[in-house]
Amino acid sequence: MKPKITVIGSANIDFVMQVGHLPAKGETVVDGRFFQAFGGKGANQAVAAARAGGAVCFVAALGGDLLARTYLDNLRKDGIDTEQVTLEPGIAGGSALVMFDQQGDNYLTVAPGSNYRVTPERVHAAEDLIASSDWIILQQEIPLESNRAVLELAAKHGRPVMLNYAPAHDLRLKPDASVHGLIVNEHEAASLSGRSLAAENQVEAARMATALREKGGHRFVVLTLGKAGSVFADAFDTRAVPAFPVNAVDTTAAGDTFCGSLAVSLGEGRPLPEAVRFASAASALSVTKVGAQSSIPTRSDIDAFLLLH
Ligand code: ADP
Repeated sequence: MKPKITVIGSANIDFVMQVGHLPAKGETVVDGRFFQAFGGKGANQAVAAARAGGAVCFVAALGGDLLARTYLDNLRKDGIDTEQVTLEPGIAGGSALVMFDQQGDNYLTVAPGSNYRVTPERVHAAEDLIASSDWIILQQEIPLESNRAVLELAAKHGRPVMLNYAPAHDLRLKPDASVHGLIVNEHEAASLSGRSLAAENQVEAARMATALREKGGHRFVVLTLGKAGSVFADAFDTRAVPAFPVNAVDTTAAGDTFCGSLAVSLGEGRPLPEAVRFASAASALSVTKVGAQSSIPTRSDIDAFLLLH
């Protein structure tokens, strides 16, 4: 039986321009290379969970434009249940404008658009889904009140929630014990702790993960550290998990792949250390390919990779 994973969150279309150099204010840079990609943390995590072997339901709001239908088809191709994905007339879908240069420096702007139509009312309409999920995954790209509503309903039905505290632009949601698993990268951990953290400093990261877990009363905290791997803290242990050595070409969606695959592995009943290893393998594979959703591996890719490592 596949674990039932419900992802409640954002879907964006990324409009990406690769340029020779980033423009100064008022400057026109020509000869860019343009492409569009499906993104948004919620959708990326839904795709990651589906490809890792979860039965995934996605609760989201797309815009009322033609791109929204293409997005819907794209989600369905991965077998994601889109019953709770609405098309919102008269509003643009969530969009990210990305510009990056040859050094990998970038400008990144996001317009939430229809993502803010994932209202608390919509969340309440999905109560049955929440009540029957093995894991619920949240991020921070829909209204704060909606995330709070999910946490309340999940607590009411005794269902575990994983919160990926990303992006950490809004610190009003103070994660408490209704968040079973808190997943943060070094920047988000620093925002929550009010202290800085260097990704290479695993010892300090481990201390921070433990402190965040105690402060919030979570079952576990995982702090991801890019190519330095991750550390996790639960009631039994605090441990560093190295990243798998791979040839990284693009780290977009590494964190999203980590969250989606972690939820599946936990939903299959694996203990946290094993689930973190599985998620590390999935996200290591994702950085070996360019793109967001296009780089997310399938279960057979992950299993084959783990067999060899
Ligand atoms: P985010 O995208 O949220 O900042 P991270 O960059 O910390 O997330 O990446 C999440 C996980 O992906 C890491 O904990 C690690 O396991 C894996 N990962 C990221 N970058 C690499 C890399 N260069 N090589 C191998 N694994 C990586």
